[in-house]
Amino acid sequence: AMPRWVALNQGLARELEWPEALHQDPQALHVFSGNAIWPGMSPFASVYSGHQFGVWAGQLGDGRALLLGEIDSPAGPQEVQLKGAGATPYSRRADGRAVLRSSIREFLCSEAMHGLGIPTTRALSLVASPQPVRRETIETAAVVTRVAPSFIRFGHFEHFAHSGEEGHHEALKALVDFVVSHHYPELQGAPNRALALLDAVVARTADLMAHWQSVGFCHGVMNTDNMSILGLTIDYGPFGFLDAFDPNHICNHSDDHGRYSWNNQPQIGYWNLRALAQALLPLIPEAKDDSQIVIDVLQTYEQRFPQAMRARWRAKLGLQAEQEDDGKLAVELLQAMAAGKADFTITFRRLGDFRSDVAPDHPANAPVRDLFLDRAAFDAWALRYSERLKAEGSVDAERAARMRRVNPVYVLRNHMAQVAIQRAQKGDYSEVQRLYLLLQTPFDEQPGAEADAGFPPEWAQAIEVSCSS
Ligand code: AMP
Ligand code: MG
Repeated sequence: AMPRWVALNQGLARELEWPEALHQDPQALHVFSGNAIWPGMSPFASVYSGHQFGVWAGQLGDGRALLLGEIDSPAGPQEVQLKGAGATPYSRRADGRAVLRSSIREFLCSEAMHGLGIPTTRALSLVASPQPVRRETIETAAVVTRVAPSFIRFGHFEHFAHSGEEGHHEALKALVDFVVSHHYPELQGAPNRALALLDAVVARTADLMAHWQSVGFCHGVMNTDNMSILGLTIDYGPFGFLDAFDPNHICNHSDDHGRYSWNNQPQIGYWNLRALAQALLPLIPEAKDDSQIVIDVLQTYEQRFPQAMRARWRAKLGLQAEQEDDGKLAVELLQAMAAGKADFTITFRRLGDFRSDVAPDHPANAPVRDLFLDRAAFDAWALRYSERLKAEGSVDAERAARMRRVNPVYVLRNHMAQVAIQRAQKGDYSEVQRLYLLLQTPFDEQPGAEADAGFPPEWAQAIEVSCSS
């Protein structure tokens, strides 16, 4: 079936120093839809296993991702990967395809996260074809071309640790050596590379979780096969951004018990790191008699995450000095937001314009104050906030400018992706293109995008996103 370009990420093409006219090259269309290869490419899929919803699931993938190769770029070597180009040796009984709906979500959110400054795999292109794909209904196929320094997941390590195949521990060691020499060269001289790698991944994962929490991003399927060894956000499925703030928000309709709710993400990150540590154990002989050295490394998460989180909340509140109870100030704001289901993104954005030189209930503060059902609760909190700002000599205008750089005006809310999907399913790709450009600069108000900065429409609540993709 004849593929068509849905979107080509010109900004990323530029970063990679690829020709910008790629979309005019018919051969490129065939390469990025998985129907042809360029000279020098020898595509392959890689095998991984993992824990799904806390349960060991054995071999999982990669059932629909195909690595085309690695290219040099000014930002270092980058892997180029197709998602949805058809069956691989690891597809199990599935078709290796991805549907247009989920591919649009992946394309848009990869770039939205990048725009927010959050480590993520990137999306270079999106092509669609009329090829029918069976899910709950018959849909059509699409392929996202993803770019990242590496697509290696925790699950790759788990695979070789647990496979029991002959030579699997040698393979595990080779994998660690590869990841360290290519992606963590500073760890090459460490007394134990596996342990040093674990330590580095604990740090990156703690940072990533804090970053996700700070923008209200919910991944939706934090299985160990969806955790990047580089601390990147990877595999966009039933993700969501918080609208009305509910810390227990579950974005994945298939997640019955809320294992991956917004509030649980940081501790699930920790759970997944434990699974990674378990997989690395065979390479840490020192831990044979005393596993404490591994536990000690893992437990640094218990300082690293809260520290990273406090720094994010401080920045979101526009605070510059560091104080013992900054975390408390943020948590109390979140509690007041949760009580009245204030919109997460809009509240923080408007808080930037909060005036500390007048009373919280002054009309100038109405835009943010009116987001709180319990105005008295806001007033009480805002008084403490004002005092805190005064204590550090904060200047409102400067704080507002700082806060505008960390509190986005646009995030990829479900309903925005939904409109783009519905139009694309009718052959109109303009909304996909408009959104990905908008979300590249999510901290700057852009003319004509007022609706994207506003509250979600009523119908957004009825959108259900699941693992079906
Ligand atoms: P996910 O929950 O999307 O991360 O998928 C879990 C595993 O199932 C991954 O290894 C995927 O590659 C694989 N998978 C998902 N959908 C398909 C498909 N349509 N065909 C083959 N494998 C798939
Ligand atoms: Mg996955």
